[in-house]
Amino acid sequence: MTDTETALAREITAELRALMAQELPVQDKLDRVVALIAERLRVDACACYILRPGSMLELYATKGLSPDAVHETFLRVGEGLIGEIALQRKPLAFANAWRHKSFVYKPETKEKAFKSLMGVPLVRENRLLGVLSVQTKKIKNFSADIVEVLETIAMVVSDMLASHPAISEQPDAFANNRRKITGIPLIEGFAQGMTLVHKRIENVAHIVDGNAKTEIKKLTQALAGVEREVNKMMALPKTNAEQVAIFETYLMFLKDKGWISKMTKIVESGLTAEAAVHRVGLDMSERMERMTDPYIRERIHDFQDLVNRLIRHLRGRKADADEKRRRQVILVAHSLGPAELLDYNLKYIKGIVLEEGSQTMHVVIVARSLNIPVICGIKDATHVIPPKTFAALDAISGQLYLNPSDEILDDLKSEMARRAIVGAHCNQSRALPAVTKDGVKIALNINAGLLDDLLVPEGTFYSGIGLYRTELPFMMSQELPGLEAQAETYHKVITKAGHRPVVFRTLDIGSDKVLPYFQQQGEENPAMGWRSIRITLDRRALLRDQLRAFIRASGEKPLAVMFPMVSATAEFLEAKKTFFLELEREKNAGRKVPKDIKIGTMLEVPSLLFQMDELLKHVDFVSIGTNDLMQFLFAADRGNALIWNRYDTLSPTFLRVLKSVNDACAQAGVPCSVCGEMAGHPLEAVVLVALGFTSLSLNPGKLGAVKAALRTMNQAETAAYVAIQMNASGPSIRDAVRAYAHDHGIFIT
Ligand code: PEP
Ligand code: MG
Repeated sequence: MTDTETALAREITAELRALMAQELPVQDKLDRVVALIAERLRVDACACYILRPGSMLELYATKGLSPDAVHETFLRVGEGLIGEIALQRKPLAFANAWRHKSFVYKPETKEKAFKSLMGVPLVRENRLLGVLSVQTKKIKNFSADIVEVLETIAMVVSDMLASHPAISEQPDAFANNRRKITGIPLIEGFAQGMTLVHKRIENVAHIVDGNAKTEIKKLTQALAGVEREVNKMMALPKTNAEQVAIFETYLMFLKDKGWISKMTKIVESGLTAEAAVHRVGLDMSERMERMTDPYIRERIHDFQDLVNRLIRHLRGRKADADEKRRRQVILVAHSLGPAELLDYNLKYIKGIVLEEGSQTMHVVIVARSLNIPVICGIKDATHVIPPKTFAALDAISGQLYLNPSDEILDDLKSEMARRAIVGAHCNQSRALPAVTKDGVKIALNINAGLLDDLLVPEGTFYSGIGLYRTELPFMMSQELPGLEAQAETYHKVITKAGHRPVVFRTLDIGSDKVLPYFQQQGEENPAMGWRSIRITLDRRALLRDQLRAFIRASGEKPLAVMFPMVSATAEFLEAKKTFFLELEREKNAGRKVPKDIKIGTMLEVPSLLFQMDELLKHVDFVSIGTNDLMQFLFAADRGNALIWNRYDTLSPTFLRVLKSVNDACAQAGVPCSVCGEMAGHPLEAVVLVALGFTSLSLNPGKLGAVKAALRTMNQAETAAYVAIQMNASGPSIRDAVRAYAHDHGIFIT
């Protein structure tokens, strides 16, 4: 340091010491420190970043950068130039900072105007506390001397920070706040970001207004405004067909005369339009919440979204200020409408935590299409999860870590890296046929239920659609789809499938699959009640319409139909007879009908196991629904969280059942496949192939992982091993098979 710099450093440190001696809150002190440095070093900006748990650097005080960025801008250690200084724990100076490859622009800081940057770490007793930086608008080559001056200043500042409990002890205080909250994974993935708590129905600002006419006009304008907004969202290129269908429900709500007239009446009684929307919105939500029908309950979130939108329009405000913040966030909400999610800047939404949620909830469907990890089932999430808290989301195991320790972050990072490698390997396998090392070919089909499920990535090799669950389009619809509408949907499925065969399953409603327009029976045990083929045989017109729709959609193309929840051969025969009656009708009406017809059954009720000889005389194929078969065989409700993993599909008992079915089918020359969730798990798929299955139907997302496993197994050798294990009396052969796979290089993700 030259004398000038030394003198400068001395002066500044003296001033800093005087400042530090004052009884001031730490924020005020730091505000003055950065102002002092900026002034004395003649730079355009000075910023102090403080290290937070989770290796985050928080912009704590600044002179020159936008004050809006204070406590809003976070950089990870290693991220951007500031992060680099923290990582390397040494001073760094950049004349052309904004051009540096590591430069990360945080728009809220408005630092675009600055060209050069110099920063030093704030370290005390070998502990990193933060970073102190200066910036200039004109390009400046910071001399080594001036860097030294800032280093000297940094020592004084570090000293002050270390003696300031509000800062130095904060990491420990945060450590006490470190928490792991467990939810239910809905969409797998990992994410990191600051928590952002989504607001529910907005409070009403003005309740009473004497001018009903103006308020009604406002209401009409708001309704039209929201309609425009929804139409705009529908027209966005990123909006897919499913999202369009969801928005159509919004439009339906918006045009609902009953709802509008209720609001109008309230306005006429002297309340503001805003208050009317709020009141009617709450009334409706409460009414919907009381309904037991899960489908309707899930639509509450869409409805609440609409109410919020209307209120925002009435206030002339588009969206909450929070939504405009540009940083990676984990959105925490009681529930969300799909449009509410799309309102956010999706680039920054890295994960979602919901109090309420399910696979069929619209926002979950939308999040899946956007690849955003989601967990749900966290009670009071919006209250127990603090806003603006650094969090890591592991939506594979369903954990949300608040203020995670570096060890947890490292673990998650390595798990993410491992999954990325595994994912890349699985992706490569997607394009290849499923053939075992000893040459056994396995037909891998996909399970689908929505058109979007058929959007299998380009180049994926699969045999066909082994299970098309027709109830999903029925569940998404507001009314019972007529024959034409059904035929149109099935035709789209056939067209999308191209040359691949499709197995259409007739309506499997009842139990947890509820149609909004179908009267529920209030049964004690709906899973074992009036459901599925029992309903469609009793309501024959429903079955006939659906069968006819299959026939019409197929034209002369081959058609495969299967019946779910068959418990007796007689039921199957009755349903099959109905099919051929419809086929006859269609023929007689002069319509083209398929020539190649296959009628099969799901095997998911154990009673069929004892009718195999008879059943196999009449079926063209058998598809084992392991989800239900497991539930009925072990008397274990598949949706009950208390027992969901109590019994294992890889138990010798269950495997013996599966093998007996496959053997019986093979003997009778009837094709047999497995279409339950089990087939989509690599280890289970290996075991199924070892049992002799050569056809599986699974979730399209699992094709790569399952293929990667099958392509690395030797069928004959694994079969011999599994056969021995199946004689064991234990509850599961899972661990043994996993160890075998590991030892024999079978790729299990
Ligand atoms: C099954 O039960 O395994 C099956 C495939 O049907 P779902 O899951 O639709 O009941
Ligand atoms: Mg089933």
